[in-house]
Amino acid sequence: MELIFRDDAYQRSCEAVIVSADETGIRLDRTVFYPLGGGQPGDSGVLRLADGGSLRIVDARKGESLDDVLHIPEEGAALPAPGTAVTAEIDWERRHRLMRMHTCMHVLCSLIEGDVTGGQVGETKSRLDFNLPDTQLDKEALTAALNRIIEEDHPVQPRWITDEELAASPQLVRTMSVKPPMGHGKVRLLEIEGIDLQPCGGTHVSRTGEIGPVAIGKIENKGRQNRRVNILFAE
Ligand SMILES: [Zn+2]
Repeated sequence: MELIFRDDAYQRSCEAVIVSADETGIRLDRTVFYPLGGGQPGDSGVLRLADGGSLRIVDARKGESLDDVLHIPEEGAALPAPGTAVTAEIDWERRHRLMRMHTCMHVLCSLIEGDVTGGQVGETKSRLDFNLPDTQLDKEALTAALNRIIEEDHPVQPRWITDEELAASPQLVRTMSVKPPMGHGKVRLLEIEGIDLQPCGGTHVSRTGEIGPVAIGKIENKGRQNRRVNILFAE
């Protein structure tokens, strides 16, 4: 399956052909739908049929192989036959908010020392958990630094390295809970120029300015070592 979002997160729709369709989900030969993973929710959207009909997709999940995406249809929907041509279209407004939030998580990560132990990207709020034994985070200073980097409008782009290059640079891996998928020859990195570089397979905006102003919500103590930082859009 060709995963268009990997190279172009801004593509909202694509022409595709149904490969298989059953109760576990619908497979296409190519897709713009990002499947749940790395703390980012799966895309929702629609498959448009040539006869004018359409099929609502409520979620996207990873299938068995690395390049496999299962498009989850709404309950009770009639499934199209293999070979059917469709236009696959994501809910762009939702995805764009997720891309802004996800990119913001990278900026936040760059501002806090300590391993990332968990995280969740959402449409209106997101969170990252850090392993910080004896640290008090300064919410005001952190908010100002976050918004300054956003305003500086740094370029954001994916870049690929080999497994060997990643193995030689273990400092690139900030997230303890999600290991980058190695063993496939190459690993996708996400670079925010001058700010952050780490393995990530998610979707991001192309410049930090596109994130827009954000606010830090509660900073919670989740266990003795864990600090949870909540982020909201400030608009
Ligand atoms: Zn990312």
